[in-house]
Amino acid sequence: MNTPNTQLSLFEARSAGESFAVRVSARARRLTARVHVGGRVEIVVPPGVGPKTVRDFVHRFSPWIDRKVAAMQCAAEPAAPVPKEVEFRTTDERFSVDWQISGARGLRVDGGRIRVYAADAARARALLRAWLARAAAARLAPQLQELAARLGFEVARVVIRRQRTRWGSCSTRGTVSLNCSLLFLRPEVVRYLFVHELSHTKHMNHSPRFWRLVETHEPDFRSLDRELLAAWRAVPDWVFRA
Ligand SMILES: [Zn+2]
Repeated sequence: MNTPNTQLSLFEARSAGESFAVRVSARARRLTARVHVGGRVEIVVPPGVGPKTVRDFVHRFSPWIDRKVAAMQCAAEPAAPVPKEVEFRTTDERFSVDWQISGARGLRVDGGRIRVYAADAARARALLRAWLARAAAARLAPQLQELAARLGFEVARVVIRRQRTRWGSCSTRGTVSLNCSLLFLRPEVVRYLFVHELSHTKHMNHSPRFWRLVETHEPDFRSLDRELLAAWRAVPDWVFRA
């Protein structure tokens, strides 16, 4: 059985192959559609709005959304197929990436230098993504556990995921999922996401009590939440490019 997630848990098919993410915001007063660079669609809804209302809204504004998606897809800068450099803002680390076209597959990290051996760019990106997940597990999971211990929360398990629409989530069993792309964000924003998910271990909703608990540990949560929402543009192209 699935355990309910608390953030961005509602996904819907918009039209052929297109999807959108739904984000429940305690501060939202009405439904809004946001289209991000690259064409990602996000619907921000006030608490208590049902899926049917969201679907109707998306349906009604489909022509506008489609135009905006087309424009934002063009706005996305063409990126190099394999990055020359990877920067983790969270931990202030930089790595140079040296891709060598090779039949053998592998990735070696030597200090700040990553050597990738792969026959083509797609395989090289896949190796980098696997490394990114490992790097996130090694860095983010202990940070989260440390903060949990300091603030008096209990985390049963930390899971690292790579998703386009969700920075983190918390299950009823106390498993916190973290997006490996958090490594590309400012430490302050990552800490806020940690506080947000840790607060869900006590309140599995976005109720006023939940936000009061968040505020106790992060008074600046409003602006950090906005920054987090806009932070998808900080994620490099190779993280999601097949
Ligand atoms: Zn939440």
